[in-house]
Order: sequence, then structure tokens, then C-alpha cells
Amino acid sequence: IPVESFDLVIFGGTGDLARRKILPGLYRRFLAGQMPEDARVIGAARSDMDDDGYRAMVREAIEEFVSEQKRKPDVVEAFLGQLHYTAIDAKGEGGWDKLAKLVRKDVVQAFYFSVGPSLFGDLATRLHKHKIANPESRIVVEKPFGRDQDSAKALNAVLAASFDEHQIYRIDHYLGKETVQNLMAVRFANMLFEPLWNAQYIDHVQITVAETVGVGGRGGYYDKSGAMRDMIQNHLMQLLCLTAMEPPSQFEPDAVRDEKLKVIRALDPVAAENIVRGQYAADEDQASYIEHSENPESKTESFIAMKVDISNWRWKGTPFYLRTGKRLKARMSEIVIQFKEVPHSIFEEDAGSKANVLAIRLQPDEGMDLRVTIKEPGPGGMRLVDVPLDMTFAEALGPEGADVPDAYERLIMDVIRGNQTLFMRGDEVEAAWAWTDPIIEGWQKRGDKPAQYEPGTTGPEDALMLLHRDGRRWRELK
Ligand code: NAD
Repeated sequence: IPVESFDLVIFGGTGDLARRKILPGLYRRFLAGQMPEDARVIGAARSDMDDDGYRAMVREAIEEFVSEQKRKPDVVEAFLGQLHYTAIDAKGEGGWDKLAKLVRKDVVQAFYFSVGPSLFGDLATRLHKHKIANPESRIVVEKPFGRDQDSAKALNAVLAASFDEHQIYRIDHYLGKETVQNLMAVRFANMLFEPLWNAQYIDHVQITVAETVGVGGRGGYYDKSGAMRDMIQNHLMQLLCLTAMEPPSQFEPDAVRDEKLKVIRALDPVAAENIVRGQYAADEDQASYIEHSENPESKTESFIAMKVDISNWRWKGTPFYLRTGKRLKARMSEIVIQFKEVPHSIFEEDAGSKANVLAIRLQPDEGMDLRVTIKEPGPGGMRLVDVPLDMTFAEALGPEGADVPDAYERLIMDVIRGNQTLFMRGDEVEAAWAWTDPIIEGWQKRGDKPAQYEPGTTGPEDALMLLHRDGRRWRELK
């Protein structure tokens, strides 16, 4: 179903994010028939070029970042026909009057701030000064949203000076993933899970976001951030919130975000012994984190594992273990719900009974896997075996199910529809920083150094110990 007609201005429309994600995503929505024929995308950035120059750049981006099977030459050309470009200086007045003439007033207006956060204030103010934005225009902002609570508050204030909260879409692309939304469907549209979704029946939860790549050329940038700021405070925190939140009364933006905020506020402070930080060492092919960061003294972590407790009735006593890192053994993201053992087994001790596990995979192949225990087939007596009830979308839903839209595509369409459910609210982001700030300050005060770990492994040994000492183990990284 096509969305309403729109003008989407991409500030930073020539940048890496625009070329890799935003524009290819829009093309795929166009191909799917969701982008109306009179909708327009307007690139606005520093480089001097005309519409044709921009179209040539986007044609290349589509060739590079859209799968061959989806590149239909006539569709690509039709899509390019809906693109425009205007050079703009965020820090000065150049180009703004031209943009004001270009943007239509009678369609949905969205402004994607695909530029560094230092330009947010300039863009927000000039959109009003040049009478481009109206009270229903939407702005989309990217991570990182601040580096601590104070800077996030300052950014929120800068945006709030020009736009109302209902106009601000803070992207966390993890929330755009199909499985993440499916987590909510599974929890709240089935009678099966929700009654068991608490500390009485769930032993613990694991959330893993593992990457095989290192920081490479982004070392200088990453060194100011680290896994805590770059991954935990936003992506893993959002996944934790959706897993742990109470049922909202409606699937409606503020109802969902209110419940997520309550979870963040119920997080206990994390003691130093419940956190393991690491930095990858070098191997034959690649340099170490320290070499990538170009700072021989760097204490920034490229890996973190932590045990997080939530102080509320639902979760008291059921820890959430989070881990994320670079240059690990496998690229894999998943949320694992580890249920408790049955209270009393009626079968022989060595029958092989295992507790249930629900694994929600975000990548590589999105899907869910529920492990249940059954009798091993055959005449060998009552032997138990756990088997997967596997719900890989591709298999369950046929080819249509396999065609899962990229997170960015879905989120941009939500912006046009005016649906903020999958975007972070300002108070959520500030609360998340309020929880992470003291942890980071603790490291700085004590001068804590991350442990070195071998690339291609599961991270530092101590991360394994974090669970072993509680009689638990991480799911295999594969
Ligand atoms: P980039 O450096 O590749 O592109 C920056 C863009 O901003 C360019 O189009 C440039 O022309 C424009 N720009 C810079 N200064 C300007 C000015 N004064 N006036 C007008 N335009 C100006 O950056 P990027 O990687 O595309 O990232 C953009 C934003 O998205 C950043 O905030 C980044 O943190 C965030 N982000 C990027 C990625 C990614 O994968 N690249 C992922 C997540 C978040």
C-alpha cells in the first residue's frame, strides 16, 4: 500500500549513510510500490552538483548496495526521476532559499539529518528561519544521540527549540528489524508465552550482538565512543526494554515508550565485578584495536559483557546478560530466553531433559527458534531429546517471508506515516545515559583497562566466567 505523497529532504544526502542505507532503502520501497509516483527525495549537502549529477551518484549507490535481483533498469530510472539535489550550507545561508522553493507545502515533509550532531541545531533553526518547516514536518536524527546525559539533554533542547517531540524521530535501526517487532507479536499476541514471561519461569536472558569486523578506518571516531556508548546504551538497551517491558495497553507510540522507559528506570546500577571489557589483539591478517585506534594508551573497549538486574516484580532474581564486541568468532545477534528446568523430573536422571530455550535471531537469518523436549523416537525407552520448533521466516512464510525489508526502509516509511512507535523518545535516551554514565565514570576514575582478547574468539575469558560463576553459560556464537 503506497504511503501519502511526501517530500523527503536528506541533509547529508551525499554521505556514506545516505548512499549505503537511506537511498537504496527508498529505492526498494519504490520497487515494492510503496513510494507514490509524485513523492520526491531531495538530496541536500555541501557538494556542488545538479539533479543529474546526484542521480548519477545514486545510480552508482544502487548498483553497489541493492542486490542484483532487485535492480530493474527501468524501475531504477523511474526512481531516479523522483530525485532532486540542492547544495546547502548548514552553517550559513547559502542554498536555503532554493530549498524553500523546492519543498512542497501540501504534502508530508520529512527532513533526514544524516549529518553529524554538531549540525542539528543549525539545520533545525534554518528550517524555520527560511519558513520551510511547518508544525507537522518531521525530522529524523541518527545515532549517536549524545555521549552522556548532559550532551543528550543539550541535543534534545536544541531540537525542542524548533520542533515538538511528536515531530522528532530518533533512529535506532535495531528497532526496525523484523524480528524485533516479532518479539512484540510473539509476546502480546499469543497466550502461550506471556504467562511464563517472568522471573518465576525464566532463568535468565542473554542478548548478544557479535561482529566479526574490527573498527578499521573508523578507529579515531570509535576510540571516543567504545562498545558501551556505541552499542549498549542504545541498541542492546532497546532490545532489553522490549524483552522486559510490561504489556502496553495499546500498540501505540507513547504507550510502548512509556513501558520501555519504566524498564530503564528500574535497572540497578552495575557493580564493577559484573562487567567485563576487552580490546581485540592483532592476528596475522589484521592490526590490533590499539593500532586501529592510533592511541597507544587507549582504554576504550571493543568488547563488553555485563550482568544487568532489573528491580521490579516481574524480573527480580532473573539477570539479563548483555554482550557485544568486534572481531569475534561470528557475526550474530540474538535474544535468548532461557527458561527454568521443570521443578521435578519424573524421568531418570540421565534421560537427557533440557530446559526450554526461545532464541530470537536478528542476524544473520532473522527468525525464532523454540527448543522443546520430546521423547527420542524409537524403542530405546524413555530417552529425551530437545528439538527445535524453528520459525525461520523464509521457511514458514515462503518467498514473501524471506523478503524481509531492511530496517531503514521500514523506519523511513514509518516517518512518512507519522508513526513514532519504533523511534526513541527524548526522555528514554536521557534515562539510558543516566544509567550508563556512572558506569563509564567508574572506569575512568579507577583507570580500568580492558583485557586483550584474541580475534576470532568469544572475547576475554572473564566474559565466560561472568556466567560460569552463576552456573550458566553463553549460547554458542555461530
Ligand atoms: P559522511 O561524512 O559520509 O557524510 C556527511 C554528509 O554531511 C555529507 O553529505 C556532507 O556533504 C554533509 N555535510 C557536512 N557538513 C555540512 C555542512 N556544513 N552543510 C551541509 N552539509 C554538510 O557521514 P555519514 O557516515 O553519512 O554519517 C551521517 C550521520 O549519520 C552521522 O551523524 C553519523 O554518526 C550517523 N550514522 C552513520 C552511519 C553510517 O553507517 N555511515 C551509521 C549510523 C549513524
